[in-house]
Amino acid sequence: IAGRAPAPGNLRATSHASSPFCWLSAAPASASAADVGGGADVAGSDDVVEFIGGCDDTLEWCRRLCEQQRPSSSSSSSSQRRGPHDADDEGRATMVPDGHVPSHPYDYDLLVLGGGSGGLAASKEASRLGARVAVLDYVRPSPAGSKWGLGGTCVNVGCIPKKLMHNAALLAEAHAHDAPHYGVGVTSEMEGAFGGVSADNDAPHHSWETLRSNVQNHIRSLNFKYRVDLREREVTYINQLGSFLDAHTLETVNAKGDKSRVTFSRCIVAVGGRPTPIDCPGGELAISSDDIFSLDRDPGRVLCVGASYISLECAGFLRGIGRDVTVAVRSILLRGFDRECADMIGEHMRGMGVNFVEGVVPARLEKTDGGRIRVTFSNGDVDEYDTVLGAIGRTGDTARLGLDRVGISTNPKNCKIPAVHEQTSTPNVYVIGDVMDGCPELTPVAIHAGRMLARRLFGGSDRAMDYRNVCTTVFTPLEYGTVGYSEDGATAEFGKENLVVYHKYFVPLEWSISPSRGHTQGFCKAVVEKRTDRVLGLHYLGPNAGEVMQGFGTAMKLGCTFEDIVGTVGIHPTTAEEFTTLSITKASGESAAAGGC
Ligand code: FAD
Repeated sequence: IAGRAPAPGNLRATSHASSPFCWLSAAPASASAADVGGGADVAGSDDVVEFIGGCDDTLEWCRRLCEQQRPSSSSSSSSQRRGPHDADDEGRATMVPDGHVPSHPYDYDLLVLGGGSGGLAASKEASRLGARVAVLDYVRPSPAGSKWGLGGTCVNVGCIPKKLMHNAALLAEAHAHDAPHYGVGVTSEMEGAFGGVSADNDAPHHSWETLRSNVQNHIRSLNFKYRVDLREREVTYINQLGSFLDAHTLETVNAKGDKSRVTFSRCIVAVGGRPTPIDCPGGELAISSDDIFSLDRDPGRVLCVGASYISLECAGFLRGIGRDVTVAVRSILLRGFDRECADMIGEHMRGMGVNFVEGVVPARLEKTDGGRIRVTFSNGDVDEYDTVLGAIGRTGDTARLGLDRVGISTNPKNCKIPAVHEQTSTPNVYVIGDVMDGCPELTPVAIHAGRMLARRLFGGSDRAMDYRNVCTTVFTPLEYGTVGYSEDGATAEFGKENLVVYHKYFVPLEWSISPSRGHTQGFCKAVVEKRTDRVLGLHYLGPNAGEVMQGFGTAMKLGCTFEDIVGTVGIHPTTAEEFTTLSITKASGESAAAGGC
């Protein structure tokens, strides 16, 4: 900083009219931020000392200034520069970044391979911090031929279309079960016939084509928005397939097969995963979650193969919109989630008419003359379906990345890349999101990790991604929100004798005047460490599970105790408040059914 230092009270951070950065400028105490406003005015003022950037840029500038002013022996001492794999006691990465924009002979400071949730977040954040960034994204069509635009799995073939189709099912269910009991759609003639509230609507007719095309139109608008966003943030978008030639060079191939090369100082691999194909004769007749949301015909009678959350979510919304659905389960539902909750989800889905065939896998798929798919199961049973949807897991999309050329090996079980604090075994190559081994396959995790990595690489941050206590929701017809340990996981780790489990069954108020919802119970459970009262896990089954769990996720991150939860005044009447009224322990054997208000 050169020139006159303004009095501290006069320092203002203010937006430059045409950039997201801030100026550190001096202004009269009475002036508003808007008064200080435009870049030209600020640049013309005597008091302006230097354009620095946003908060992170300013901190980084300050760090570098301190580095420069340190005696050279200490600043260059390698013993003082800890490696990127080090972590302090709180699990924070203690990597000392090389600097903001190092000089090098490459095309880009950062090349992000994969323009999904993680890749887009990392590239935009790095660009904001001053790095020269390109993001390479190319969608290889699914085996059934589906392809899509920029944005990765979440927006095109994951969270977004899934949640919209789940919502279609919720609407249909509300129409069938709740609407008549709330008087919605009940005419005066019907009142006479049914006594006003005793009838349920027939399942409403559902148009797959209307749902599909509206969902796809929304996705296309998001694809466009992402492209504009990259342009506005000065990230170069390269719509080509990339593979490593060496640690600083990718070969890229466009849709016509033309090849070129791009070089970079650092690379973040964010290529995500793809559905694992069904491995049996005729397996290619099955579609996957990459195809279902854009299917150009009614799915008809469907077999969902697998008991993953993706399989159950798809089975759930298809049943909700009135299709005949079977789920083939090899072993258990929702492996890795709380067993009691997983079983309740299964029970609820059976109650709404989903057929579960257990302990089987498809042994053969064949096309019938009528265009259906005949499935022979491993137990010899045979049945026919219009659609077979495989959802038996996802595999890291690394097979054709040329990782061997940069000395990176993958986990043979899932083709994912091992990393420590997102750094691979090759120093300038990082990995985030679904393709990182051990990373929860969730959009916000990929986004958060991408932003935090970009800040460490280009913003002087030393904060590492915390993968613990990530809250999430499974959008099955009975939604399931969860954070922390399952009861089974906590029992295995802490021992049953060291836990207190509180639980409660309740009927969500909004369903309580709809008799045909009779099979539906809400449920909540807190798994607590006996000695410390620390909450280890929270589980919720009921409406709006995602909205309910988000705040509890923050509480868990802050290390909340059970006393903190039950000491919180609830919001009435909601289902989230059921957590604040938990008092019955499982060990007591007392009834856990909710009472009145
Ligand atoms: P992706 O989003 O998969 O992006 C990777 C990108 O890289 C893709 O565009 C791919 O085409 C591209 N690519 C791959 N290889 C190359 C290459 N060689 N060159 C150029 N580009 C390449 N998460 C949630 O949080 N909530 C949910 O409700 C939820 N629901 C889901 C439902 C379904 C059906 C599925 C399948 C997933 C769901 N997920 C959900 C998971 C979520 O979508 C992923 O965790 C998230 O998209 C991962 O982001 P990513 O950046 O790691 O990879």
